[in-house]
Formats: sequence, structure tokens, C-alpha cells
Amino acid sequence: MSNSRTPTGAEYLATPLQFVKGVGPRRAADLQRAGLTTVEDLLYRFPFRYEDRTRMQPIASLRPGNRAAVMGQIKSTNLATTRRRGFKIFHAIVGDASGAIRCSWMNQAFLADVLAPRSTVVIFGEVRLDSTGLHFLNPEYEIVGEDLAALNMGRIVPFYERTGTVTPNMQRKLVRQVLDGLPPDIPDPLPVELRERLQLTDRRLALEGAHFPSGDDPVEDLNLFKSPAQRRLIFEEFFLYQLGHAWHRHEAGVEAKPHRIAVDDRIRKSAAAVLPFALTPGQRTAIKEIVEDIQRPTPMHRLLQGDVGSGKTIVALLAAVVAMENGLQVAMLAPTEILAKQHYATLARQLASTRFRVDLLTGGTAGTDRHTILAHLERGSTHLVVGTHALVQETVKFHQLGLVVIDEQHRFGVVQRAAMREKGLRPDVLLMTATPIPRTLALTDYSELDVSKIIGMPPGRQPIRTWVKPESRRDEIYQLIRRERAAGRQAYVIYPLVEESLKLDLKSATEMADRLQAEAFPEYRVGVLHGRMKQDAKDAVMQAFMSGAVHVLVSTTVVEVGVDVPNATVMLVEHAERFGLSQLHQLRGRIGRGAWESHCILLYQSPWTDEAHERLQTMASTTDGFAIAERDLELRGPGDFFGTRQSGLPRLRTGDVVRDRDVMEEAHREARALVESGALDPVLTRFVAEDWPARFGLAQVG
Ligand code: ADP
Ligand code: MG
Repeated sequence: MSNSRTPTGAEYLATPLQFVKGVGPRRAADLQRAGLTTVEDLLYRFPFRYEDRTRMQPIASLRPGNRAAVMGQIKSTNLATTRRRGFKIFHAIVGDASGAIRCSWMNQAFLADVLAPRSTVVIFGEVRLDSTGLHFLNPEYEIVGEDLAALNMGRIVPFYERTGTVTPNMQRKLVRQVLDGLPPDIPDPLPVELRERLQLTDRRLALEGAHFPSGDDPVEDLNLFKSPAQRRLIFEEFFLYQLGHAWHRHEAGVEAKPHRIAVDDRIRKSAAAVLPFALTPGQRTAIKEIVEDIQRPTPMHRLLQGDVGSGKTIVALLAAVVAMENGLQVAMLAPTEILAKQHYATLARQLASTRFRVDLLTGGTAGTDRHTILAHLERGSTHLVVGTHALVQETVKFHQLGLVVIDEQHRFGVVQRAAMREKGLRPDVLLMTATPIPRTLALTDYSELDVSKIIGMPPGRQPIRTWVKPESRRDEIYQLIRRERAAGRQAYVIYPLVEESLKLDLKSATEMADRLQAEAFPEYRVGVLHGRMKQDAKDAVMQAFMSGAVHVLVSTTVVEVGVDVPNATVMLVEHAERFGLSQLHQLRGRIGRGAWESHCILLYQSPWTDEAHERLQTMASTTDGFAIAERDLELRGPGDFFGTRQSGLPRLRTGDVVRDRDVMEEAHREARALVESGALDPVLTRFVAEDWPARFGLAQVG
């Protein structure tokens, strides 16, 4: 630290790394790029693994296959050139009191300058035996200088991720230096009561113990990030994160809507009149929760989860009827044009006998139509509008928007969700998703939402059989499609075509459709649908498939979300090994919607990875969307789970929402309890009100 007065604990933690001795602007910039700006950032970046070097092994005791650390002196070195031009091997003989061993590094000629004879080194790696004798091949090495001795050996040693020019060794040294300067009085953001009740390690000790463990914790626990010191710091981070959600949720719940929604017998009758079928018990529970919620004085903020085909649309429609009967407008957002049109068709049909006007607004809505619709919305004479992202645009204004429904909500970003909300006066918001959100992520990203679930499926659904088959069994599959077709059914064939990158060695959907038409199914009508087609063409094909005029629909994943063709009973996924689990689940959800048994065939081509194998086996073994989502999360990690969505997971520096999910649960409980008890102190209140979004990289809340 450069200033003369001893800084307080808080000041010290907030010190930019640039001002730490030995860092300087250049290295500070590197650290900054890796997200490390202050001393605190550095201390909250854990080592990514720990190695037990409490015991150095005598060289004479080494056996082939051991992973071992030895310390010794470099006796001699030699840079050997091989027959392959430019390929060099560096050898060093390292000796201790018990004996000596050869260490060899391939193609790292620079080591000749680094590992000089007579220097003392620690060597770590696997001991090998071949015709040349016992040796280490490409081991990790460290030169043991005077000052470093205590950090790099004879203890559990922390390893850090390399960040730019900042090597793991430099980071280790820097952390040690910063810990040594830490004032005794560093503030602890966790309330005392909580610390005592949960027996959390003191913050200072936790920081020391997470970086330089004392040796009391087994190295296995450290590598699972389950030592008391690590857990305490992870809890601290999760707790502060959850506190923000709990607080914002609490605050939002305080501000009343400018209107009240009420439900009386007349409205109940009106809703019942639009119902084309009896609701399932799961739908009934969900709609009851939603209708109760929208009658409250404060805005609803609810997530409706229901597996594909569970019947979310009708639940949204009933909520819309209640809002419209109360004189409010409703907006329903869908992620794709096809889906928006399908919703529009369904809703317009179901509302045909009512006085409510329904409109459709998408990117494709042109000229005068668009003009008229915008005018109706602004005047309030359109009651329900279904649309795509086009609805979010600024030119779209409402007279009195009271309910926003967002279907397949993970396809929309936080910002778009917020922009829609802005178009009304504190409207109720209903988010819908068919991608079941594992509890871990729900707690992370949506912990401010109330959740309703539709459990169970509408009656009459037939089971879906899932087959995982190699490409070589293609003929059998075509037979199956012919059998289904003979019974009057239809089939989807899906290709993992990535929009622009036609270079991929995959057959393009168009080419495949031509082949299927010409060779496999000359007697059927084969249609094709892909992302690069013009909207009109897409619509025409989809329409033809819905009406049964097209028998086999070859498509890229544009059919993935929402479309409903009950007569389709076959889902053939080509290159299934390339799809993610949730995506496969969505695709499978396109079939099994009618009264017939359906077949989902996952066709794979070698080579496929273990993970792909795992995915397809999971698909074959369960149809439970929640189980699939949990597995998907485990396989892919939280970052990828929602694909390319814009709404972010929080930026976490210490914990990992999947690895540390139990800590997240506890932090969630405790944060909520604290906010609800009203005992949040002024420091924490200021933190959640002012610093919280930036601290976790959340552009906009909720
Ligand atoms: P998702 O939850 O995937 O959006 P949809 O709302 O599209 O599901 O419903 C799937 C199909 O099930 C639709 O054809 C719909 O008409 C039908 N459906 C929904 N609820 C019921 C019900 N209670 N009884 C019979 N059919 C239903
Ligand atoms: Mg749907």
C-alpha cells in the first residue's frame, strides 16, 4: 500500500491492485481483464485446486505410477535435439539425499535457461518407467527460492488459474503478500447472529484458510470446496446475492397497482364459456394461484412451469379473460413468428364469441395493418395482442396494459421483460416456460418470482416410445414411418443445421428433404422448413403440415418451440448426438399430443462422446422434464443451460451454483428470513439498494 496512514480493513480490501507493491499498471491491467480489480477481488478468487505437498518423497522411494512430489537439486542438464527437425527435449537430473531421477520435458527448450544446475527445485508429476529407466515426463516444476520456500512445498499448495501474464506462481505470491498486510479489523458483512447460529468461520480466518489451508482440512475436501473456510466465503457471496433478490421482491411488493382486479360470478361465467375442454387438476391449481395473485393490490410476478404439452396456453387465456373483463389490455409474447401465429389462431378462435378484439403483431406485420393495430392498441380497442419481439418496440403503446404474458420466457432477455413491463402501469407479469428450471437455477435467477407448476398432462395422451439407434438402422426407421403413414399419421425429421455454417459436414435440410422425397418416400409429400426461408414460405409449409397436406416435415430446430400438430406421431432426430438434452426433450414434446402412441427416434452417428451417450441414454430412460433438466444442468453447467439468452446469471466470483447448490438453498432461506424479519441493518440495506446490481453484474433487476 502506498499511503502512509494504516488503512482500515474496508479501505484495504477496496484498494486497487495497481497500488499493491510489485503490481504496477501493466500487471494490474492483466488482472483487471481477469475480473480482478481490488484486493478484495483477489482474495475472493479461490485457487482452482490444491495439492498436498506436506510430504516430499525421497527419490529412492519412487515407484512407477506414483504421483509424487520430490525436492532436490539440479545435478546436470542437457538439451537434446531429435531426428525430427526443430523438436527438442530438455533433460535434467534432480537429486536428493536418497538418490537421483531424470526429468524430461518435450519441446520446451526455454527450460534450459530456467532450470539451471545447482538450483533447488520441487518436481511434481507421475513417475514413469520405460526402457530408459525411471523418470518424470513433463512434470510440474518450481524453483525454490528463499522467500518462496514456505509457499510452494511442505504444505497444501494452492493453484490459481493463469490470468494473462500473471502466472499461478505470481498470483500465489501476491495473495500471500496481501493476506500478510490484512488489518486485524476487516468488517464482516454477515450479521453476528447468523454467524453464530450457523457457526461460520471468522472472515479473516476464512480468507487465510481458503488460500493457504492449515493442513487440518483434508485436501479432498478442499478440492470439493467443502472446507469450513471455503464454505463460509461461498455462503457470504450467495447470501449477499439472495439478500438483493429478497429485498427487491419485498420492495416491489409494497408498491400497489393503479387498478384493482376483481373476480365475480359474471367473470367466472365468461371464463368458463371460452373453455373448450375440462381443465386438468394441474391446470386448475395453476389458474387458481394466478387468479388469486392478480387480485392482490401489488403486481404479480409469477413463473408458470409446465412440461411441453401440459397445456399452459389455456391457463394464460383464462388469466387474460379475467384481466380483460376488468377493463385491462393483455399482451402475449412468443419467441418465434410461427408460435405467435399459432397462439393467435388458437386465442382468436377461443375468444370468437366474446366482445374482445384480438390482434397479431410480428415483424412481418406490414404497412396499413400495422398502422391500424398500433392505433387500436393505443386507443384500447384491441384487448389482447399476440406478438413476437416486435411488441417490445417503442412504437407500440397501450391504453391500459394490465397483464403481460411471456411464453417460452427464457428466449427473452431481462431487458425485454422490463421493457414490456414499462408499457403498462405496474402490470401483472406471467412468465411461462416448458424448460423446467432446476431448483438450483430457479433459486439463482428467478428467486424473486413466485412459481406455479402444472403437474400432469391432459387426458388421452398416449405414451411416447424413445429409440436410440445408430445410423446403420436407418431402413428400419423408414419402415416405421411408412407404417405410421399408412395409419394416417405424420412425421417430423429434424436436422441440427446451424444457420450460416453450411460448411459443417452435415447434410443440409433441403438436400435431405430432396433425398427423402426422391428415394425413401416418393409416394408422400415431404416438406422442408429451415431458418433461412422467407417468412411466407415458412408459414405455408407449417400450414400444410398442420392441415395434413404435408406428410413428412423435414426441419431444422425451428419447430422446437410450441407448435402443436396432434396427428404427428414420429419424431426422427438426425445427428441426435449433437443436440442438448433440453432441446431433445423439447423436440420430443412435439409428438404424443394426439390419441396415438408416438415414436421418438434418436439417430446417432459415430464418433460420439461419452457425454452424448449419456444424453441419449437419459432421453431413453425418462420423460420427466424436471429430471432431464437437472441432468442437463449437471452435464452442461449453468452458463450454457439457457443457451444464448441475454438475461444473465449473476457474476459470481467464489461460489458455483451447481457445485454449491446446498449453500445456495441455505443462503436463500436465511436472506429471505432476514428481510422479512425487518432486521436488515443500514449497511446491508444500502448495499442491496445501491450496489447490489453492479456487484453481481445484473444490468436490470427482474
Ligand atoms: P404447452 O404447455 O406445451 O404450451 P399447449 O397449451 O400448447 O401446451 O397444449 C397442448 C395441447 O393440449 C393443445 O392441443 C391443447 O389444446 C391441449 N390441451 C390443453 N389442456 C387440455 C385439457 N385440459 N384437456 C384436453 N386437451 C388439452
Ligand atoms: Mg406452449
